[in-house]
Amino acid sequence: MAVFHADLAARSVPRYTSYPTAAEFTETVGAAEHRAALDALRPNDRISLYLHIPYCHEICWYCGCNTGPVGRASRLDIYVDALVAEIGVVADRARGRVSHVHFGGGSPNALSPDQFERVVAAVRAGFRFTPDAEWAAELDPRHLDADFCRMLAGNGVSRVSLGAQTFDLGIQAKINRLQPFRMVARCVEDLRRAGIAHVNLDLMYGLPGQTLDTIARTVRQARDLAPDRVAMFGYAHLPRMLPRQRMIEDSQLPDAEARFWQSILARDLWLEEGLRPIGFDHYARPDDTLALAAANGKLRRNFQGFTDDDADAVIGLGASSISLFPGLITQTEKHVGRYRMKVQNGCLGTTRGIRRSVDDQRRGAVIERLLCDGRVDLVELGWPPAVAAQVMADVAPKLAPMLERGLIRRHGTELIILPNGEPYARLAAAAFDTFRAAAGDRFSKAV
Ligand code: SF4
Repeated sequence: MAVFHADLAARSVPRYTSYPTAAEFTETVGAAEHRAALDALRPNDRISLYLHIPYCHEICWYCGCNTGPVGRASRLDIYVDALVAEIGVVADRARGRVSHVHFGGGSPNALSPDQFERVVAAVRAGFRFTPDAEWAAELDPRHLDADFCRMLAGNGVSRVSLGAQTFDLGIQAKINRLQPFRMVARCVEDLRRAGIAHVNLDLMYGLPGQTLDTIARTVRQARDLAPDRVAMFGYAHLPRMLPRQRMIEDSQLPDAEARFWQSILARDLWLEEGLRPIGFDHYARPDDTLALAAANGKLRRNFQGFTDDDADAVIGLGASSISLFPGLITQTEKHVGRYRMKVQNGCLGTTRGIRRSVDDQRRGAVIERLLCDGRVDLVELGWPPAVAAQVMADVAPKLAPMLERGLIRRHGTELIILPNGEPYARLAAAAFDTFRAAAGDRFSKAV
């Protein structure tokens, strides 16, 4: 039985799609470090490619992504020229074999079919692939037609994520994202008819005007689309950092307790449907590779959220994209104009990042296992026993509020998140984060 703890739910903590998080990136890391990390990849390393398309036809007010309006059609051609140039520069250096390609954004279907195919051709020409490489794309249902679906399937895309968020038209109006259920249902039909086997849905809780009733109705409608996976993200309202969110009135937002029960209801309804819980905000059919990875302790967490992608490195391509190597995280220039200048001159577009010390990598592994498995033992992860014991002693005061309320359990160097503690998993992870002391309110609420 879930219990709402106001003091815990109100705390601001990262989503930990990396550790250290992007908030720790600085300009002391740049193209030279990125180049060295690419050069260090070995021929048999598995690599994952993330391609960022920072454009959308319409901008949703809740959006926290790096994206802007499409505007003139030539803007996209110019961006694709730059992206193809960057793919060439990176592919010339990076050895290794690509096991996963993910198009995100923004909206990859802001591109025309021809533009999308140009990017695919550049990726195929530049890199080597594993036989099981998966191609996936995030799509905006408002601008998706059957031709685009066929083009995706023809280019090997076998998994897509549709941004649905909510099927309540009143809430859609409050977030500037009008897309009736029948529109999304038609997209799902077009995708499946084109031969795209796996369709995921992205939904949200904590949106303006959202209630338990609207959550329940949305989940019931979403169920009829038989998604392979569902991501149920909590809306992070950070209007000081994201000006477009100022269009959303604070007074319309559910409070911390309402958000908590919305997330619990969504979880209960998806479990009733037979989906398996994956981490703190994903659900998957039992036969989906994400559920299988979770069952086998192979679930991972990266910039796309919970994933079964087991690559040794993630290479980001496109403005603002992030690359992840064992000892380094880098980010490419966010400003599209400056990004183009850099990559069209044959340079990497890297502008910032962070070196990951051995301690960062160990803590990152603890945070990842806690969020993916709900359990971690520092010694099993390879920490020297004395160091592990010291770290557990150091984090004990931070974990005490969760321990006292029966949300977690500790045995020596092992930490377990109990079923009641699952909604607060990110708080347990944050105890191991050495950067958080002065973070303030830069992150979403814990629930
Ligand atoms: S379509 Fe997606 S990326 Fe584009 S503005 Fe809306 S939420 Fe953001």
